Amino acid sequence: MRCSSRLAITGAFALTLCAQNSGYELNDSHFHMTNYIQEGTNIKALLNMMGDKVGRVALFGIPLQQQWSYRVDGENAPTYYLGTDAPLYYYSFTDAVIAMAYRSLTAEQQARFDPMITGFNPTDMYAADHIRRVLQTFPGVFTGIGEFSVHKEFVSAKISGDVASLTDPALDRIFAFAGEVGLVSIIHNDLDVPFSKEGSPPAYLDQMKALLKRHPNATIIWAHTGMGRIVRPVKNHAATVEAMLRDHAFDNVYFDISWDEVAKYLVSTAESTQITADLINQYPDRFLFGTDEVAPSSKERYLKVYYQYDPLWKLLSPEALEKVRKENYTRIFDQARLKVRAWEQLHTGEAQ
Ligand SMILES: [Zn+2]
Repeated sequence: MRCSSRLAITGAFALTLCAQNSGYELNDSHFHMTNYIQEGTNIKALLNMMGDKVGRVALFGIPLQQQWSYRVDGENAPTYYLGTDAPLYYYSFTDAVIAMAYRSLTAEQQARFDPMITGFNPTDMYAADHIRRVLQTFPGVFTGIGEFSVHKEFVSAKISGDVASLTDPALDRIFAFAGEVGLVSIIHNDLDVPFSKEGSPPAYLDQMKALLKRHPNATIIWAHTGMGRIVRPVKNHAATVEAMLRDHAFDNVYFDISWDEVAKYLVSTAESTQITADLINQYPDRFLFGTDEVAPSSKERYLKVYYQYDPLWKLLSPEALEKVRKENYTRIFDQARLKVRAWEQLHTGEAQ
């Protein structure tokens, strides 16, 4: 049943049926509406790009603003972090931008988005307080937090202030709070450093596992399965992920396969595609598709990564295909929405 046919029945029951049986092909668990200078895609234009193909989108900006330093770059205003030596800084206003864009929509349009809070500094013990404040200022809007980054090639070292660390108690406060509220968390953390020595163990795997283990109550999506632009899948990457999927200490952890840089590695050869497909077919509940597009200007650009994965889609079982492209998103984000709304009911009065 497609959404249009729900006119035949009425009320909440119809809406539920509509959501469950929509004719959409995929949901997008990882989307940046704005870029590193806080400019981006108009949310109504995004709805047009989603069309009747993309049902729901986890929506966020980028928590970092690239500074335009006239001393460094003169008239060459940078738009990306690699374009200048000037630093990045945390830009909390992004959360208000996302919330107001969401609020500009009708209820039916809003149902297709899960806005996420990103404008906090993960080295700050007060970060959890920022998240609480955003929920209380914009109740009824947000479903989760992230994508926020701890270790990310070239980015981490460019941010003004302390370098983020997986061992920082500030992160523990963030995940403890996310667990308490029911917020989904999307964390970007490169498994390894760029240009690591062949055969050396991935630099951040043990710290990441320890962090995840400390927060069994938080629902956490590890973005890009720990890969990065030049952080290639370390040898046996699939085995590393598989070991975590097998370990019940990580039952609350999911992996997204977003980003064209990640797709580039995963479907680079017939062998790598098959290894990825085998892993997803074995653990179909634990992977989510996402585009990781940043402020795309056209539908073609927006869906590029989705089509890049065509060779992978062909190797998935019908069950796994449905779960990775749609159902895991619906299950995880629906559950979070319910919990966060319930928390807000109890705590929104505190904001005044
Ligand atoms: Zn990322």
